[in-house]
Amino acid sequence: MTEDAPKPKTARPWDLFISKYGRVEEQLQVDRMEICKGCPFFIGLTKQCTKCGCFMPAKTKLPHAQCPLDPPKWFAVNVSDYGNNSSQVQS
Ligand code: SF4
Repeated sequence: MTEDAPKPKTARPWDLFISKYGRVEEQLQVDRMEICKGCPFFIGLTKQCTKCGCFMPAKTKLPHAQCPLDPPKWFAVNVSDYGNNSSQVQS
Protein backbone atom coordinates (compact mmCIF):
# COMPACT_ATOMS: atom_id res chain seq x y z
CA MET A 1 0.00 0.00 0.00
CA THR A 2 1.40 3.38 -0.98
CA GLU A 3 1.21 6.44 1.21
CA ASP A 4 -0.92 9.28 -0.16
CA ALA A 5 0.78 12.57 -1.03
CA PRO A 6 0.27 15.27 1.64
CA LYS A 7 -2.84 17.33 1.10
CA PRO A 8 -2.60 21.13 0.91
CA LYS A 9 -3.44 22.99 4.13
CA THR A 10 -7.11 23.93 4.24
CA ALA A 11 -7.59 27.65 3.68
CA ARG A 12 -9.67 29.49 6.26
CA PRO A 13 -11.21 33.00 5.89
CA TRP A 14 -8.98 34.40 8.63
CA ASP A 15 -5.90 33.30 6.71
CA LEU A 16 -6.34 36.54 4.75
CA PHE A 17 -5.18 38.34 7.89
CA ILE A 18 -2.09 36.16 8.40
CA SER A 19 0.72 37.72 6.42
CA LYS A 20 2.91 34.62 6.35
CA TYR A 21 0.54 32.98 3.85
CA GLY A 22 1.08 35.75 1.32
CA ARG A 23 -0.99 36.20 -1.82
CA VAL A 24 -0.95 34.67 -5.26
CA GLU A 25 0.12 36.74 -8.23
CA GLU A 26 -2.72 38.82 -9.68
CA GLN A 27 -2.94 36.80 -12.91
CA LEU A 28 -3.33 33.54 -11.01
CA GLN A 29 -6.13 35.04 -8.91
CA VAL A 30 -7.85 36.21 -12.10
CA ASP A 31 -7.44 32.75 -13.65
CA ARG A 32 -8.91 31.07 -10.58
CA MET A 33 -11.89 33.45 -10.60
CA GLU A 34 -12.53 32.77 -14.29
CA ILE A 35 -12.73 29.05 -13.51
CA CYS A 36 -15.16 29.71 -10.67
CA LYS A 37 -17.32 31.99 -12.83
CA GLY A 38 -17.78 29.11 -15.25
CA CYS A 39 -18.62 26.61 -12.52
CA PRO A 40 -22.21 25.54 -11.71
CA PHE A 41 -21.44 25.82 -7.98
CA PHE A 42 -20.59 29.55 -8.24
CA ILE A 43 -23.22 32.12 -7.19
CA GLY A 44 -22.57 35.18 -9.33
CA LEU A 45 -24.65 37.53 -7.17
CA THR A 46 -22.71 36.91 -3.97
CA LYS A 47 -19.52 35.57 -5.60
CA GLN A 48 -19.66 32.53 -3.31
CA CYS A 49 -18.98 28.86 -3.90
CA THR A 50 -21.85 26.62 -2.75
CA LYS A 51 -19.40 23.74 -2.18
CA CYS A 52 -17.16 25.47 0.35
CA GLY A 53 -19.27 28.52 1.20
CA CYS A 54 -16.32 30.81 0.63
CA PHE A 55 -16.30 34.32 -0.85
CA MET A 56 -14.23 33.54 -3.90
CA PRO A 57 -12.65 36.96 -4.64
CA ALA A 58 -10.93 36.50 -1.26
CA LYS A 59 -10.24 32.75 -1.28
CA THR A 60 -8.66 32.83 -4.73
CA LYS A 61 -5.97 35.18 -3.36
CA LEU A 62 -4.63 32.59 -0.91
CA PRO A 63 -1.79 30.41 -2.21
CA HIS A 64 -2.79 27.37 -0.17
CA ALA A 65 -6.47 27.61 -1.15
CA GLN A 66 -7.83 24.99 -3.51
CA CYS A 67 -11.14 24.21 -5.19
CA PRO A 68 -13.03 21.70 -2.97
CA LEU A 69 -14.13 19.44 -5.83
CA ASP A 70 -12.52 16.05 -6.42
CA PRO A 71 -10.68 16.49 -8.67
CA PRO A 72 -10.22 20.21 -7.98
CA LYS A 73 -10.83 22.65 -10.80
CA TRP A 74 -7.89 24.74 -9.55
CA PHE A 75 -5.07 23.96 -7.19
CA ALA A 76 -3.05 25.31 -4.30
CA VAL A 77 0.38 26.66 -5.19
CA ASN A 78 3.66 26.88 -3.35
CA VAL A 79 4.53 30.50 -2.59
CA SER A 80 8.23 29.64 -2.84
CA ASP A 81 7.67 28.75 -6.50
CA TYR A 82 6.41 32.21 -7.54
CA GLY A 83 8.36 33.34 -10.52
CA ASN A 84 9.08 29.69 -11.29
CA ASN A 85 5.77 28.80 -12.93
CA SER A 86 3.90 28.68 -9.56
CA SER A 87 3.76 24.90 -9.43
CA GLN A 88 0.54 23.29 -8.34
CA VAL A 89 0.24 21.30 -5.15
CA GLN A 90 -1.43 18.03 -6.01
CA SER A 91 -3.69 16.42 -3.42
S1 SF4 B 1 -14.04 26.70 -5.85
FE1 SF4 B 1 -14.38 25.00 -7.28
S2 SF4 B 1 -16.46 24.27 -6.81
FE2 SF4 B 1 -16.28 26.30 -5.94
S3 SF4 B 1 -17.05 27.69 -7.52
FE3 SF4 B 1 -14.83 27.58 -7.77
S4 SF4 B 1 -14.50 25.99 -9.29
FE4 SF4 B 1 -16.60 25.73 -8.49
